[in-house]
Amino acid sequence: MIIILKPGVSEQDAKQLVQKIESTGLKPLYMPGVERTVLGAIGDERVLQSLHLDSDPRVDEIKPILSKYKLVSRELNPVDSHVMLGQHLVGGGRFTVIAGPCGVESREQLLGVAEMIQQHPVAALRGGAFKPRTSPYSFQGLGEEGLKLLKEANAKTGLPTVSEVVDAADAELMAQYVDCLQVGARNMQNFRLLEAVGKLGLPILLKRGMSATIEELLLAAEYIVNAGNPNVILCERGIRTFETATRNTLDLNAVAYLKRKTHLPVLVDPSHGTGVRELIAPLSYASAAVGADGIIVETHLNPAEALSDGHQALNAEQFADLITGLRPFVEAAGKTL
Ligand code: PEP
Ligand code: MN
Repeated sequence: MIIILKPGVSEQDAKQLVQKIESTGLKPLYMPGVERTVLGAIGDERVLQSLHLDSDPRVDEIKPILSKYKLVSRELNPVDSHVMLGQHLVGGGRFTVIAGPCGVESREQLLGVAEMIQQHPVAALRGGAFKPRTSPYSFQGLGEEGLKLLKEANAKTGLPTVSEVVDAADAELMAQYVDCLQVGARNMQNFRLLEAVGKLGLPILLKRGMSATIEELLLAAEYIVNAGNPNVILCERGIRTFETATRNTLDLNAVAYLKRKTHLPVLVDPSHGTGVRELIAPLSYASAAVGADGIIVETHLNPAEALSDGHQALNAEQFADLITGLRPFVEAAGKTL
């Protein structure tokens, strides 16, 4: 339920109501606004009735949250939320570009690409140290060695880093090395993993599962926020359809829909979304136009030699062209790079 307080209700009064909600065993939320304070009560709505808040003189309106997801819904919080990724704001009118290789392969590879992207308005460096590969014979990532290289790249360039966590047992270790944990498509409904990253404070980039509905994505995000971590960034990365011309079908419907239904920032991954290098720029522009808060793009100084996803990686020149082409779309969308 959403409990909207009357304008001018004091902080002390609002907090007293929060305590009242908490005493029933419901999860209370306290959201002070400029004009008025909004409270939330998550749990069995019948319990709330026992508090008779509707006759409390401080309460203006009580509304149910109709969607299955509550904490991430726009019903609960109509204002866009933003997430701090290092010093960079994700959401809040910024168009975030995260770039880097699919996997961390070597010091030379990672630092080379980090220095290249640093010449552009890029918010963070991506790179997988633990790679969830379809085949057990494919490059699995450098593990902790890869995390150390990400830390080194961060120290050298100042770029915050993003890397995928594939096992709940690794979450705390990874948080010591990187600035943002990615939960990949294959793990979107790994609920123990979602709860584990929900116990941490750092931003979580949650990618949509390749066969997951939008509601399932939002409920996965709800797991993380409900466990205590509000710093969730959603990512549309393409879904499986009958189409085989492209690696996945990038669902830009989902971006426009998500922006209406959730206050969380939404990024797009056109690299995995298309799997076709030539389509990354046009789909990036479309992402900006449809309201996305940014993109995450695979880049490599020598894509032909990449140990994973080289076919969809942009080289330095292609990446520079992407940024140049993107600017007018970001501006037209009323955002800043
Ligand atoms: C990746 O970002 O390299 C990756 C494996 O992404 P996804 O989980 O979207 O397939
Ligand atoms: Mn990849």
